[in-house]
Amino acid sequence: MSTVKKFASQADLEEKKVTFSQISEHAWAYTAEGDPNTGIIIGDDCVLVADTQATPSMAADVVRRIREVTDKPIKYVVLTHYHAVRVLGAAAYQPEQILASQDTYDLIVERGEQDKASEIGRFPRLFQNVETVPPGMTWPTMTFTGKMTLWLDKLEVQLLQLGRGHTKGDTVVWLPQERTLLSGDLVEFDATPYAGDAYFKDWPQTLDNLAALKPAALVPGRGAALTTPEQVAQGLAGTRGFIADVYASVQEGVKAGKDLNAVYKDTYARLKPKYGQWVIFDHCMPFDVTRCYDEATQYPDPRIWTAERDTQMWQTLEG
Ligand SMILES: [Zn+2]
Repeated sequence: MSTVKKFASQADLEEKKVTFSQISEHAWAYTAEGDPNTGIIIGDDCVLVADTQATPSMAADVVRRIREVTDKPIKYVVLTHYHAVRVLGAAAYQPEQILASQDTYDLIVERGEQDKASEIGRFPRLFQNVETVPPGMTWPTMTFTGKMTLWLDKLEVQLLQLGRGHTKGDTVVWLPQERTLLSGDLVEFDATPYAGDAYFKDWPQTLDNLAALKPAALVPGRGAALTTPEQVAQGLAGTRGFIADVYASVQEGVKAGKDLNAVYKDTYARLKPKYGQWVIFDHCMPFDVTRCYDEATQYPDPRIWTAERDTQMWQTLEG
């Protein structure tokens, strides 16, 4: 790391190719080579969208793809968690309801504004036509705790909180009849998990709880849709391995009395050979190790990232 890295993903400008594909009888995946995914459930009477894209302008492309396969109304938008890159496109769908866990709602109240500013600064390419984002926050219109079941006529759709991991409020969308799961950022595939707001100790158990559903198909937060039980197992194992490896390395450094900077250098060097080829590896590592160090020392809950804290941290670890 002799050359100075440009902050977060400000140097990442390459456009990605979108794939829109059916992964089970009622589920479609909108994926983009490691950029944030959107999952779509087309029920008997209406459509549900999970995670919206970062801006209404970008979400308009999801709507366009949906309209190629159905003219049913888009009734529900589900926010799997509070991150701006997942929620700020919601207006484009004009849904009847925006659904989220109460924990996600609480995080929007507590840190939504700061997160919006921080995320737009980190990754400008992901916020295409950011001027189309309405002012203020994307507010859920219905919240739940633990479990909520929606019936899209005869199609059962479960919203489940199976534990903390990527954030405190993580929600997955589960179609029991066709064993299809939309995981949000709890699972990534060929993409580095962002863990700046994570619960490292809880995340592996939460992944075990997802695995216990025995999904046959899964739309991860980033990366290609997983369409066989074997691919699903691979996605779960890859995410679990990364989180466990960061956690073990940071714990070891903390126990040895090392400071954050030293722990970061060690952990980066250790993980690079195994995970360096995953997209956004260099973007995520400073945030992930900082949060993990916090959790291993004195902050059980993630501290709020502000645009200022982002650049300060980057300067300390990468400057
Ligand atoms: Zn996220």
